[in-house]
Amino acid sequence: MLNLSGLNPPQRQAVETLSGPLLVLAGAGTGKTRVITFRMANLIRHGIRPDRILSVTFTNKASREMRERALKLLGSRVKAKPVVSTFHAYCVRVLREDITALGYPKGFVIYDRSDQESAARTALREIRVGDKAMKPGDLLNKISSWKMSGLTENQAGEYAEADFDALAAMAYRKYQKQLRASGAVDFDDLLLLTSRLFKEHPEILQKHQAKFDHVQVDEYQDTNGVQFSLVENLVQGHQNICVVGDDDQSIYGWRGAEVQHILNFGGHFANTKTIRLENNYRCTNRIVEYANRLVRHNRNRHEKKLIAHKPDGSPVRILAFEDETQESENVVKEIAYLITELSVRPKDIAILFRTNEQPRLFETEMRRLNVPYVLLGGQSFFDRKEIRDLLAYLKVLAAPRDEVSLLRIINTPARGIGATTTEKLVQLAVSQGKSLWEVVPEGIAAGIVPKQAQAALSDFRNLLVRFRDVMLEHPRDLADHVRRLLRAIDYNGEIDKQYKDETQAEQRKAVLEDLVNSIGQYVEKNKSPTLEGFLETTALMDRDDKSDKDSELADNAVRLMTLHSAKGLEFPRVYLVGMEENLLPHRRSVESDLEKDIAEERRLAYVGVTRAMDYLTLTRAKARMKWGKRRETVTSRFLFEMQKEPGETLNEEHVGGEEDELFDASAPKQTLTSLFDADDNPPF
Ligand code: ATP
Ligand code: MG
Repeated sequence: MLNLSGLNPPQRQAVETLSGPLLVLAGAGTGKTRVITFRMANLIRHGIRPDRILSVTFTNKASREMRERALKLLGSRVKAKPVVSTFHAYCVRVLREDITALGYPKGFVIYDRSDQESAARTALREIRVGDKAMKPGDLLNKISSWKMSGLTENQAGEYAEADFDALAAMAYRKYQKQLRASGAVDFDDLLLLTSRLFKEHPEILQKHQAKFDHVQVDEYQDTNGVQFSLVENLVQGHQNICVVGDDDQSIYGWRGAEVQHILNFGGHFANTKTIRLENNYRCTNRIVEYANRLVRHNRNRHEKKLIAHKPDGSPVRILAFEDETQESENVVKEIAYLITELSVRPKDIAILFRTNEQPRLFETEMRRLNVPYVLLGGQSFFDRKEIRDLLAYLKVLAAPRDEVSLLRIINTPARGIGATTTEKLVQLAVSQGKSLWEVVPEGIAAGIVPKQAQAALSDFRNLLVRFRDVMLEHPRDLADHVRRLLRAIDYNGEIDKQYKDETQAEQRKAVLEDLVNSIGQYVEKNKSPTLEGFLETTALMDRDDKSDKDSELADNAVRLMTLHSAKGLEFPRVYLVGMEENLLPHRRSVESDLEKDIAEERRLAYVGVTRAMDYLTLTRAKARMKWGKRRETVTSRFLFEMQKEPGETLNEEHVGGEEDELFDASAPKQTLTSLFDADDNPPF
């Protein structure tokens, strides 16, 4: 029996609205995610088959949590599983079934960011533009924004006015051609191709429409045009669509997300029922006040009420440090103290930052003081060289046409297939319009490569063919095959060569073992495992999610993460660090000085502040190293905006320097404990 008593009246109303278009537009921490989780359970209780409800979340982690919670709410065992997935994962499902209708191979591979970067680099080389003139990353961002606004590689050039755009458009064509030749799609293609499939093949659309009676979308403020059209298409018949979101938390404008989709929802779907939630159950009253004051500075927003359900709580602290070293040292010292002396659980603490450069110092300190931590949204498990190498092998085994992966492994570990040989093969492939893999035998036979390389090439090819066959035939033994593959290519030998330091070498090997373990786990969990299926699970972990594996390893760890990856989450204690102009707001927005860019940064800060349940600490460094030089920083405008009175001087504590050693390194405990006057209400 589903108990709805843990819901307030408007939440309950949303949970009990079981058909037609429904919009829940509400501020942070008001229970939007809770509403769609309960609603899923309620639909099931009303007899809807779980597998006929599609719920879309922003990350894979969020989908797992939601599915588990909904099932728990129902208590009894439910036969079928509700479908909870990200937009991208949903699209992969559709494309695996029907992509051939668009002329793509069924066994297409999905390029992740680093595969994309290789492809972008090649594309730039082909049009003779150096890495310096255009960074592969910048090209990819441009391509992504074209794709998300529906411009194909042939249309992009027509709109290109600036030189950069004209070059990027040329590179876009090359990039796309390369992906096609490799039977590969990138993340944006997943959305675009699905959308095209639905538009161009009505019978396929109908088939997919018929699979779900209800669709729900969390974090709806961050959907872009392509995602919107997917949803619209899917629910065309029954109009059973429930979306929840907060326009103040729209933070993916740079990825093409448009707040307008949530604000115009009622215009798109006739008879939309709109429900507003006003009680914030997450944050203390003081934190909510900070958040409210901040976001009020954005124009063009839906005025919303956000009322704290919790009492005032501890004051929000603003700490100013002499420089970034002091900032990281003191924050981490305090965290270490909280964990060891006050038994705070590490996972209840999060350090949030705007840019990927910020966590390094904090990590160093964490390691020095032995504080367990996990970095989310940064360089992660799947970005390590060893993992990338092994995954490239697996990708080639799954889809030999995948050129980016093939080039990565053709001479890794070194096997005497030099750059000249590969270059010749690539030329041969281009001139014949074939894939690199296809021309390998010709390359060997025609003797266009040196003798020694011929033998190496033919061994390499045979090895791959052999492993491909056994993996296809005995997918249940996938982990064993991979272990054998690693032995066959002597990857450990390569690690020993690269890392003279034994512990380092051991660590690298352990990382590989982890991957093999995760293959084992994948096989256990799946009725019909395949190599492609495994690769899909790794490819689909979006960037923010990729260190999930790490976090499983260190479930009891302090969270270090970017503001973007903190969306939707909550922590009892939050440190929002680097509250400075050019960090938050980000330098790009300060330089452009466009109202809309600053507004998006403000929303990011709002997301950060509202992640905190009980304790919020905002920090800044008065000086920071920039290209090896110490420079004075400027206090973030957002700190001023959060103050009670406009123009008020900041109510901040200055830490470090000569006059005030709040966190005296020589006696951290005494100084900190002396702050606990009221025992049960420490100031942090
Ligand atoms: P965000 O905008 O950050 O995604 P949200 O609106 O999705 O936030 P939730 O994460 O669903 O909010 O809820 C925030 C917190 O408040 C959660 O810990 C949730 O369990 C709690 N909560 C929500 N509604 C209630 C309620 N009626 N009673 C008690 N706790 C609640
Ligand atoms: Mg939420």
